[in-house]
Amino acid sequence: MKVIVVGAGVVGTMHAWHAVERGHEVVHIEREAEARGASLRNFGQIWVSGRAGGEELDTALRARELWEGVGARVPGLGFRAIGSLTPVRNELELAVAEAAVARPDAAARGYKLLTADEALAVNPALRGAFDNGVARAALWCERDAAVEPRTAQLALRESLLATGRYTFLPHREVREVVGENAVRDDHGDVHTGDAVVLCTGAWLSGLVREVAGEIPVRRVRLQMMQTDPLGEPLTTSVADADSFRYYPAYASPELDALNAGQAQDPTAAAHKMQLLMVQRLDGGLTIGDTHEYEHPFAFDTLEDPYEHLTRVVESFLGRPLPRVRRRWAGVYAQCTDTSRVVHRQQVRDGVWLVTGPGGRGMTCSPAIAETTANELGW
Ligand SMILES: Cc1cc2nc3c(=O)[nH]c(=O)nc-3n(C[C@H](O)[C@H](O)[C@H](O)COP(=O)(O)OP(=O)(O)OC[C@H]3O[C@@H](n4cnc5c(N)ncnc54)[C@H](O)[C@@H]3O)c2cc1C
Repeated sequence: MKVIVVGAGVVGTMHAWHAVERGHEVVHIEREAEARGASLRNFGQIWVSGRAGGEELDTALRARELWEGVGARVPGLGFRAIGSLTPVRNELELAVAEAAVARPDAAARGYKLLTADEALAVNPALRGAFDNGVARAALWCERDAAVEPRTAQLALRESLLATGRYTFLPHREVREVVGENAVRDDHGDVHTGDAVVLCTGAWLSGLVREVAGEIPVRRVRLQMMQTDPLGEPLTTSVADADSFRYYPAYASPELDALNAGQAQDPTAAAHKMQLLMVQRLDGGLTIGDTHEYEHPFAFDTLEDPYEHLTRVVESFLGRPLPRVRRRWAGVYAQCTDTSRVVHRQQVRDGVWLVTGPGGRGMTCSPAIAETTANELGW
């Protein structure tokens, strides 16, 4: 069987991966020299902790298992099972963490409530949080993991090329679906396979609107930054308790009490922020994020959110943040019904569109692509 995959972000690459794994030939088409959208701009968090119970958690856990297996074969992915800590500062935040560890699926996530001393032993760099009394406890999620987003797709591609059944065609924008199982690119070349999968990310106009019309998927813009090396290991990913307000796993009467009893910092509230932080293999810290839903998106990155994130991180580290080396923004596509893991739609005979995994796309793509492969009988 020959599979045409359009889009070289993580969703497309994982579709290529599963097709090649099952013995098929893949032609992978990307309009840029390399993917440079959401898949490279993200934290690289394989984030199980905040997922809604049921299909979303099942998908994330399956994907986490697949990432670990792929990571063992492709060292350039930088897969590491580092877990995450969410420091909690007061009774209201602690109650949300206690409700989380009481969930029936808490063990599957590896949730555990740690005392400040236990959390400090797990991640000694969080001295400000646990030594200086900023936080009294922490929610630990053992299943959270990380990969290197800026190099992961390249490393996966090297591995795919080595199979001899994979062809990468950069600098080709797919413009048209022509007949069954076939697309035409902007060079005028037609690519025909047994199946075509469009993994075109947040580009919802042009080709996608033409073949699928208006789909129940929206675009979300985020701001991020990365620092110089910290100079010591940050052994886990880190979130702040604002993340409780955004992730469905924490929905509970205790969260309602937190929302009612403790206002978010005004800057964090205005930009729908939480702190997520992960250390890169070079020692730098990737830190974010904001959420912007209204169009047209700003074209500039705003300083206030960065100042807020810096204050929170410095309070956790108990030291000044290293110099910020990069700031950037990224856009992902998210199903408007956020309980849906992905938008998978057959748009023509032999042509499928897979988009909209939202802020969990890096986490869930291996399992999303596996489901496509199973449903299409690859
Ligand atoms: C700042 C940020 C942080 C995030 N953090 C995380 C995280 O830590 N964990 C997590 O799980 N998720 C995270 N996400 C979400 C995740 O990054 C996305 O869900 C995921 O990368 C989407 O992958 P994709 O392949 O669909 O899209 P993309 O990576 O955007 O790839 C789509 C590709 O298709 C190409 N393309 C589009 N149209 C055509 C065409 N017509 N012809 C040829 N090529 C085309 C584009 O050039 C692009 O390379 C984050 C997202 C952002 C923006």
